[in-house]
Amino acid sequence: MSAHILSGKEVATAVRGEVATRVAALQERGKTVGLATVMVGEDPASAVYVRSKHRAAEKAGMLSFDFHLPADATQEQVEARVRKLNSDDRVDGIIVQLPLPPGLDGNEAVAAIDPAKDADGLHPYNLGLLVMERGHLRPATPSGIMRILDHYNIETAGKLAVIMGRSFLVGKPMALLLGAKGVDATVVQAHSRTQNLFDLARRADILVAAIGRPRFISGDHIKPGAVVIDVGINRTDDGLVGDVDFASAVDVASAITPVPGGVGLMTVASLLANTVRAAEHATD
Ligand code: NAP
Repeated sequence: MSAHILSGKEVATAVRGEVATRVAALQERGKTVGLATVMVGEDPASAVYVRSKHRAAEKAGMLSFDFHLPADATQEQVEARVRKLNSDDRVDGIIVQLPLPPGLDGNEAVAAIDPAKDADGLHPYNLGLLVMERGHLRPATPSGIMRILDHYNIETAGKLAVIMGRSFLVGKPMALLLGAKGVDATVVQAHSRTQNLFDLARRADILVAAIGRPRFISGDHIKPGAVVIDVGINRTDDGLVGDVDFASAVDVASAITPVPGGVGLMTVASLLANTVRAAEHATD
């Protein structure tokens, strides 16, 4: 049996189409929608991500504002730039592109964002609301994964979801979203100190791999028929690969996200969705 491929491209295209429609509806009411990024330094991977966010925002009909600070910018300069955007009415969503160069505190820079303009959904206030199962700006990557599960009608209630990784960017919010009322998975959060990790993985109905280790999970570690979500993005000599060995996993899982073409595309779509949601709330 070969797994059903959960196409991030298909779902991201649907989300981006919905976002464009909502942006156009706001424009008809005289409200433009704007996304701003703050990047510090010259990290080439960050530059690629920032460019793709601007391209996607413009395609959806948004204004996009690109602020680039030198690598020797101070924490105060970064936060001052964020505060200026907080009070700019043309800007509905703000992203501080992480990681920041050494010596700068990315968490503090994100905390300087007005929570109502938190396009990545990573502000401590919004993460707090997520714990309370409230709020409308959710961390972009995990909410993109939820959208994939929803799009493909994947049953979550009562299923055992094993999430590998506990970062505040992916693993922790993923656990909260999958365990939330109405989604109702039974969640186990694994990390680098988890014992018998592969035994645990073999019990999962839904396996989310977010650890940053190329092809760490193979078909042998997957329960036959499981749904496998591969969040990993690892640059190797063979190109971009996930945390899952796709070639062996595809014959065991019932459904799987590919890398590339899976979760990665959802992250940008989700932050656009957060930005238009923020704009809608601002006009309510
Ligand atoms: P991270 O902050 O480095 O966290 C990695 C997590 O994996 C940690 O909780 C770590 O455990 C755990 N871990 C590491 N090695 C492990 C092992 N051998 N066994 C079990 N757990 C292990 O990374 P992240 O930001 O969450 O990102 C994870 C991956 O997702 C990376 O490949 C990243 O590039 C990718 N990513 C993709 C997207 C996307 O849009 N698709 C978005 C964000 C991230 P400890 O806590 O014990 O250290």
